[in-house]
Amino acid sequence: MPASGRQRKWIIGIDLGGSHFSVGLVSTSGALQSVQRHRVAVADGPAAIIDQMREVIFAQLDSQGLTRTDVLAVGIGSPGPFDRKAGVIIESYNLQWFDVPLVKMLRERVGMDVVLDGDAISATYGEWWAGVGRGSRHMVGLTLGTGVGGGLIINGAVYYGCSDLAGHFGHMIIEANGRVCSCGNQGCLEAYASASAIVGRALEKPKELRRSQAWKEIAGESHRLTAKVLYQWARRGDGFARALFEETGRYLGTGLAGIIHTVNPEIIVVGGAVAKAGNLLLTPARQEAGRRAFKSAFRRTRIVRASLAENAGVIGAAGLAQCHFGNQRPGAM
Ligand SMILES: [Zn+2]
Repeated sequence: MPASGRQRKWIIGIDLGGSHFSVGLVSTSGALQSVQRHRVAVADGPAAIIDQMREVIFAQLDSQGLTRTDVLAVGIGSPGPFDRKAGVIIESYNLQWFDVPLVKMLRERVGMDVVLDGDAISATYGEWWAGVGRGSRHMVGLTLGTGVGGGLIINGAVYYGCSDLAGHFGHMIIEANGRVCSCGNQGCLEAYASASAIVGRALEKPKELRRSQAWKEIAGESHRLTAKVLYQWARRGDGFARALFEETGRYLGTGLAGIIHTVNPEIIVVGGAVAKAGNLLLTPARQEAGRRAFKSAFRRTRIVRASLAENAGVIGAAGLAQCHFGNQRPGAM
C-alpha cells in the first residue's frame, strides 16, 4: 500500500527529564506498545542528545516492523520553562539547554511532525486518556516528585490558561508564612509534598529522626536520606516516618481542598514517585480535604492514585500529539 494511503496508527511519545528521556510507541487508541529509557550525556550538548532521540525512535519502529510513514506525529513532554507554541526549551539547568529549538531540531532529524508540551500536563493527559481518569470530563492531575507538577482537564480538553500557567498546583500557597519553595515564594504545596520537601521536613526534626529506623538504615548519613527510604519505613511501621507521611498527607489534603473549591473536578489523580507511598499519603489527604472542602463537592470528587506509573508521561505526550495533528480528539466523548 502506498505510504500516502496507509493509516497512521502509531504515535511516538517522549518524556524528557533532567537526566534521561523515555521514548514510547503508542497506538492511536492509547495502548503502549514499547518503551525505552535512555540516560543522557549532558556534556554532549543538545544536538547529540536529539540525535540519540532519533536513534531510539527508529530503533523502536524497526523492532516493530514499522516505518515513519506509520507514525502520525511525535509528542514531547518536558519540564519548563519552554515556549510551547514555538517548540523551544527556554532553559533547562539539568540539561544545560538554553533557547534550544527542540521541535525544529527533532522534526528535521526524523521527518515527522513534532509537538512540545509540559511534563505534568502530559502525565495528566496520559491518565485521562488511558489511565484511571478515563471517561471523566473534569480531572486534575498532580505529580509528586522532585517538585510538584499539575495538569488540568476541563470539559474534556486540556486547559492551559492565557499563558500556559494553569495547573501549577505545586505553587498553590497552603501556609502563608511557611517553608521556602524552589520558586522563591513561601508556603507552596511543593515546599511540603515534593520528595525533597519530605526529606527537608524530616531533617528539621533531628531528635525524632535520629531515633527512627530510617536513620539507622542510612547509617546517620543525612545525604542518603530519601523520600523512598522514609516511606518504606513508614510502611514497615516506623513511628517517625509514619507521622511524617500523615503530616504530608494533611498538607496535600489542604491543597486538594483548594483544588476542589476552584476546579470542582470529578477526579484528582495523584502520581509521581511520592505517590508510591499510596494510602499512607492518600488516606490522611482525603480526610483533610474532606474536613476542609464543601461536603457536597468533596463527595463528588474521587482522589485516587495514578495507574500508569512512570509511563503516564510518554502515553500522554503521544496523546497530546494526536490532539495536535490528528483529526480526532483522543478520549473525547
Ligand atoms: Zn512555589
